[in-house]
Amino acid sequence: SPTTTTTFAYEFDSESFKGKVSFPTGVFIDGQFSAGSDGSTIDVVNPSTGKVITSIAEGTAKDVDRAVAAAKRTFENTWGLKVPGAQRGKLLNRLADLLETHSDELAALEALDNGKTFLWAKAVDVHFSIETIRYYAGWADKIHGQVVETHERKLAYTRHEPIGVVGQIIPWNFPLLMFAWKLGPALATGNAIVLKPSEFTPLTALRACSLINEAGFPPGVVNVVTGYGHTAGQAISEHLGIDKVAFTGSTLVGRKIMEAAAKSNLKNVTLELGGKSPNIVLNDADLDLAVDWSAFGIYWNHGQCCCAGSRIFVQSGIYDEFLKRFTAKSKSIKLGDPFAKASDQGPQVSQIQFDRILDYINSGKQQGAKVHLGGERHGTKGYFIQPTIFTDTRPDMRIVQEEIFGPVCVVIKFEDEEDVLRQANDTLYGLAAAVFTQDITRGIQLAHKLQAGTVWINCVNSLHPNVPFGGYKQSGIGRELGEYALANYTNLKAVHVNLGERI
Ligand code: NAD
Repeated sequence: SPTTTTTFAYEFDSESFKGKVSFPTGVFIDGQFSAGSDGSTIDVVNPSTGKVITSIAEGTAKDVDRAVAAAKRTFENTWGLKVPGAQRGKLLNRLADLLETHSDELAALEALDNGKTFLWAKAVDVHFSIETIRYYAGWADKIHGQVVETHERKLAYTRHEPIGVVGQIIPWNFPLLMFAWKLGPALATGNAIVLKPSEFTPLTALRACSLINEAGFPPGVVNVVTGYGHTAGQAISEHLGIDKVAFTGSTLVGRKIMEAAAKSNLKNVTLELGGKSPNIVLNDADLDLAVDWSAFGIYWNHGQCCCAGSRIFVQSGIYDEFLKRFTAKSKSIKLGDPFAKASDQGPQVSQIQFDRILDYINSGKQQGAKVHLGGERHGTKGYFIQPTIFTDTRPDMRIVQEEIFGPVCVVIKFEDEEDVLRQANDTLYGLAAAVFTQDITRGIQLAHKLQAGTVWINCVNSLHPNVPFGGYKQSGIGRELGEYALANYTNLKAVHVNLGERI
């Protein structure tokens, strides 16, 4: 196997973080970093400047083969059911502690690679990653089946066994957090992993690989193959040695993954896909609270949240006042260097996303919507886009129907609850929804009628490791987080023991 290893070395000298960060990179297989099978690399770009930061290994289908072999070997010999749950929990807790020790460094890498602000990266991405790993560490020794009552001459019980080698493919919007969401339940239940991070944001996953070694996981339990989706990602989806694939990303690619899984070995598939989440503000809402959360709902992480509240429906009695205050709030958002403490919003992740968002903004203009605020790039370098509000939209417009994945929202007036429910549910997605009201009964009644996997009342984008997350309709299959995610990573076996019955 190839052995050449490269090193990421970077000197941070910013208001938020100073220090030299250096760690080995490459594909991470069997506990070791190495070059990809054909030696090619992928440039990693700083979205604040558009300049190349470093390059990482371009893993190939051959590297995926090697990773699967390592994972299978480890699973059979030194992991899986060979390791008691308490030991798996201990390893996960050690990993969480190491992530905590390196919080600043991880937040800095995320800000550099993804463009999110250092302060948010530390407060949410890194913090929530640690909490997620700790939460699943707690589950590791509590995975159990049931004794099922049948009749007196039978003992029947179930076992929740690890699936074996699982494939995981993650996106660029929360690089470390998606890594943690995937690793936590898979390792707690005793699986071995072959994971592919996004080609746009591989740095924190690679940094975490060294920490996985340091925590003491047996080599081969976690393997990370950096590379492109249509090559390394496709190889994971169709690999005959992988029995389950978990994916977070676009609905388009989710479909391809399911197709590849179906055509290869019918592997089990869970998908976390896109959204076009409605955010409903009723006449009786606490207006300041609704304005603040609505702004957080669409602008946080630069709109690059699958559950972003991108369609804001406001009841007619407060529409004008809401729009006035929401516009003022949107104008107050400070765009700039992700490492500057005053910055609220950094650049979009890549040139591709930047172009895509501007294309959506143009489509809104061309289809006759009104740009109430923003609608342009910010500055002259990097991929910054102004917070953008569209009004005067029609339900059939692309900006109302399609996921933009940027700091762009539509604000739509509605008359009554029947009207807003019809419009809110008029989407092929069903990831999340929010309702703002001071009447909790109305809020809950609406929550039950909204077709979404998560409904927030008087908040938006608020998640917790203990609470499941996932989509209705074309927003996905299965749930991540909480106890529910454990089922994604276990095979259920029923055992029947005959206690003396004769044929
Ligand atoms: P994407 O779907 O293009 O990529 C996600 C991951 O899939 C990346 O690692 C990519 O390399 C890989 N991939 C691409 N093509 C593949 C293929 N043919 N086979 C296997 N893997 C492949 O998404 P993106 O560009 O990274 O993110 C943008 C979109 O992702 C957004 O528009 C949003 O809808 C969605 N998204 C959803 C969530 C969620 O939690 N639901 C989170 C982040 C992003």
